[in-house]
Amino acid sequence: MRKKKAPQKSRIWPCPKCRKSCRFDESNPFRPFCSERCKNFDTANWATESYRIAGPATDPQQDLEFAAKDPSASGQDDSEPGS
Ligand SMILES: [Zn+2]
Repeated sequence: MRKKKAPQKSRIWPCPKCRKSCRFDESNPFRPFCSERCKNFDTANWATESYRIAGPATDPQQDLEFAAKDPSASGQDDSEPGS
């Protein structure tokens, strides 16, 4: 038994690129964009964005964690637990 899928009504959706109303359903292969042009434009935009962000990300937090896990630092003094 499968869940009955709600009937897909074609929704009108403003294109994120040009704000033109477009259909947000299966008849629009470029959704959420209105056209291939808008879709391509946005994809290109995203690609450049990620190129800018991507890079040798050195995380100082990671270095701190690594230092805290240093085995030579975790050795407690060998006094017996008095109990
Ligand atoms: Zn558009």
